[in-house]
Amino acid sequence: MRKPFVAGNWKMNTDIHSGVELARSIAAGSSDIACHSVDVAVIPPFVYIPAVVQALSSTCVAVGAQDVYCEQKGAFTGEISPPMLKDVGCHYALCGHSERRHVIGEKDGLINKKVAAAVSGGLLPIFCVGELLEERQASQTEKVVSRQIKKGLANLAAEKVSAVTVAYEPVWAIGTGLTATPQQAQEVHSFIRDLLAKMYDRRLADDIRILYGGSVKPDNAAELMAQNDIDGLLVGGASLKADDFLAIIRAAV
Ligand code: PEP
Repeated sequence: MRKPFVAGNWKMNTDIHSGVELARSIAAGSSDIACHSVDVAVIPPFVYIPAVVQALSSTCVAVGAQDVYCEQKGAFTGEISPPMLKDVGCHYALCGHSERRHVIGEKDGLINKKVAAAVSGGLLPIFCVGELLEERQASQTEKVVSRQIKKGLANLAAEKVSAVTVAYEPVWAIGTGLTATPQQAQEVHSFIRDLLAKMYDRRLADDIRILYGGSVKPDNAAELMAQNDIDGLLVGGASLKADDFLAIIRAAV
């Protein structure tokens, strides 16, 4: 039985005051269901992580990072390592978010190292995959997602992969207001689960959580969550409004 998981990616938004307020409102509004019925995480910009961790310290809402570097320490100017994130109270780290892939230019090989380093460093990676609009239009979705999954998880043993949450985020649906239909999302989630069963085994594939992301809103969350292989939601824009994010969390239970 996979427990639902809802994570809010704040991207490069909020300031310290509004971030702490947003975190507090989310914790207060979800206190009756977070932990036992649904896992909830917020993913603020790096610099606000310590303040948000402190604001959430006696709550059931966890904190994640939007990225993580693949080395533990050393001459990597500007990067943040898994031990640094653990040190400030982070539990999760996004790896391979589409904005890192397509705006910053991260490739599958680097993302693979980040996923491996995150797990070795005791973080829980949220490993993002998804196709571009032109790839979907060319019927390349399965080919692209399969390449991203195989390369992104290359050389990771099954026990490491079981620490991973996969997020399917079609790039054409992120921040655009276009959402995959529940059927489109389900098809890809089921494809990913079958692929993981082939790469590892059926038990691992049945246990791993696969989140959907891409313009999730309070009015489409329940229908997405009703699909067999959608285990949770990765939410961008709507996670910046406490009421919207709380409605999405409730729809996931
Ligand atoms: C995201 O940033 O992962 C995301 C899904 O964004 P949005 O919900 O705004 O499309």
